[in-house]
Amino acid sequence: MPIALFWHRRDLRLHDNAGLAAALQSGLPVVPLFIYDTDILDHVPRPQDARVTFIYDQVERLAEQTAAAGGTFLAYYGRPAEVFRQLFDQLDVAAVYTNTDYEPYATARDAAVAQLCQERGIGFETRKDQVIFHQREVLTKTGTPHRSFGPYRDAWLAALRPEQLQPYPSAELLPGRLQLLPAVPPRPTLAQMGFAPYEQFVAAAELPGEQLVRGYHGTRDQLRLVESSTRRSVHLRFGTLSVRELMRQAQALNPKLLAELIWRDYFMMLLWHYPQLPEQSFEPRLRGVPFRHAEADFQRWCEGRTGYPLIDAGMRELNQTGYLPNRARIAAASFLVKHLLIDWRWGERYFGDKLLDYDLALNVGNWQWVAGTGVVAAPWFRVFSPDSQLDKFDPTREYVRRWVPEFGTPAYPAPLIDHKFARERAISTYRAAYQAASAG
Ligand SMILES: Cc1cc2nc3c(=O)[nH]c(=O)nc-3n(C[C@H](O)[C@H](O)[C@H](O)COP(=O)(O)OP(=O)(O)OC[C@H]3O[C@@H](n4cnc5c(N)ncnc54)[C@H](O)[C@@H]3O)c2cc1C
Repeated sequence: MPIALFWHRRDLRLHDNAGLAAALQSGLPVVPLFIYDTDILDHVPRPQDARVTFIYDQVERLAEQTAAAGGTFLAYYGRPAEVFRQLFDQLDVAAVYTNTDYEPYATARDAAVAQLCQERGIGFETRKDQVIFHQREVLTKTGTPHRSFGPYRDAWLAALRPEQLQPYPSAELLPGRLQLLPAVPPRPTLAQMGFAPYEQFVAAAELPGEQLVRGYHGTRDQLRLVESSTRRSVHLRFGTLSVRELMRQAQALNPKLLAELIWRDYFMMLLWHYPQLPEQSFEPRLRGVPFRHAEADFQRWCEGRTGYPLIDAGMRELNQTGYLPNRARIAAASFLVKHLLIDWRWGERYFGDKLLDYDLALNVGNWQWVAGTGVVAAPWFRVFSPDSQLDKFDPTREYVRRWVPEFGTPAYPAPLIDHKFARERAISTYRAAYQAASAG
């Protein structure tokens, strides 16, 4: 009997999963699958990596849940097109189902697998699952992506219909629709892939508490609070929580949280339209900013030794936990780009190495926003004062003391750069680049 494969990627859950529901409704028995993609993992330093550990734990959980529902769960370590080629030789596969992915690498990978399916006469079906609106669904009247968030958000809200936030009945459909395969190779272990477990600090993959969500707009910027925002970014990144679920809660309880989730849709849509964003400043008049190749300054920023307490606390939290509150992300990014005049791409890559919730679209979108170079961007001539930001978001210095134990002692470094000097240098450098490009 022919089967359908369901390929999990950024949707590591059985409930409310659009592509899985479609596979289960196809009439074919379904075998779920995950591929540890060597095209990605070959670039990850061994042995410890927080994201690989997180993915591994979730895949193992999915395998157990699939077995409990009466099916086989396949997991392989290899290049996706090659894994599929082998599977198509061994099994009678009629269709592959998956959820749409928007990153440039994922788009190319999926095109290659779709091509292979076509050559073999196998269906390749994708569903929208990670976001509410994607690709060309929310555009300006002239059919281009919005260049500011407010009009995008308004158009998004106007387009929203209640059914778009309704859950897909994937978990409910599982019984009796999964296929049990007689002999399958064992799933790869972390050790076989060259990795060792990494201790993580991750909130549960459940909806945040109602009280937190109700007060979100008041707490999200307060660095002294450990529970200031939802802390669900890692779960949205890997799909252990459905975005529809969180959106429904936000819609009912807090419009500010809903707006932040709309930012997520927005940046994912922008990366799909402009796949060059990770490599290039979007604003052509700012592509010539002469960023400094200041390795030693960059190192001090990475290590949290700039002498600016807010920046240092943030970078140390990031290095130790893989998480950073939004306010501290903005402050650290702005300091690197404006105060140190270091290329936003260096910072984007460093965050990419460290963040457990690392998401190319959101990271690049936000870095370009902070740098003033993005499709949507803060004014390039705005340079935050790290000390004023500290007074505003950590007035009691609780956050700083938590991460910088030597703060206030002689062991704490003097500021790497004078704020007034740095501010004037950033503005004059940006202005010169902007004017030269506008004139030429
Ligand atoms: C320089 C910089 C880099 C960033 N890199 C990432 C990244 O790699 N991955 C990532 O998930 N977020 C990134 N963000 C956005 C934001 O900081 C995090 O999503 C947020 O801090 C995660 O914590 P939370 O889940 O408690 O967020 P909450 O405040 O509870 O928000 C709920 C969800 O809304 C979305 N969201 C919130 N803020 C933003 C935003 N500014 N842009 C887009 N979506 C948002 C996220 O999915 C988040 O989980 C970045 C922000 C900056 C300034």
